[in-house]
Amino acid sequence: MADETPVLYLRGIQRRYRQGTDTLDVLKGAELAVWAGESIALIGPSGAGKSTLLHVAGLLEHQDEGEVYIAEAPTSELPDHERTRIRRTQIGFIYQFHHLLAEFSALENVMLPQMIGGLPRGEARARASELLSYLGLRDRLKHRPAELSGGEQQRVAIARAVANAPRLLLADEPTGNLDPRTSAHVFGALTQLVRASGLAAIIATHNMDIAQKMDRRVTLRDGLVVEVE
Ligand code: ADP
Repeated sequence: MADETPVLYLRGIQRRYRQGTDTLDVLKGAELAVWAGESIALIGPSGAGKSTLLHVAGLLEHQDEGEVYIAEAPTSELPDHERTRIRRTQIGFIYQFHHLLAEFSALENVMLPQMIGGLPRGEARARASELLSYLGLRDRLKHRPAELSGGEQQRVAIARAVANAPRLLLADEPTGNLDPRTSAHVFGALTQLVRASGLAAIIATHNMDIAQKMDRRVTLRDGLVVEVE
């Protein structure tokens, strides 16, 4: 059964950076499993290694030791083009700043990753329209990012991240630059989507109100993932 297999399993992840003549051990054997439909808040102070963990989990960075399993398949020995394919087809990213394409409408921003993935324009448009409507942006489809509020831009970024129906959603402070009310609103939309679509999600956040609403909370302590209440 699919549910017996985590969507993401991080096993013994070590990651170190060279800083001048020193090495900084950021992850020292981090372990984490995330199942479908589960949302995990990744909390902890700046510099603890949250972004590093998300980059390794999202195959954007190579770990030094350990293994990243996506749906049971180990990824560390795969060639770059295979890692890129997995990233494109199975993983969605949301960043603190939306990185939407300024020249394109909300609808087009959500259509593009699907068309790059090979979906015909009509189908991409239908799915983009459905997702944006689900996120409360039915009346904003034709707007360009500059014509949208911060919260609306971030909801477009959420729609774009899930447009290709990934299994895993990774978000790095997705509401970090929004005011608390907008942040709560955007976050509500995000968790609703995670539950409805059966995604597995890890969301790094400083916002404890948001973290409390998620299924589990973890933090990084001395390079290891530990569960918190
Ligand atoms: P967080 O997301 O929790 O703020 P990061 O994962 O961004 O933490 O960073 C963890 C530590 O690793 C920090 O001390 C940061 O300066 C360091 N670091 C991150 N990326 C690099 C890099 N590419 N080169 C050197 N040091 C880095």
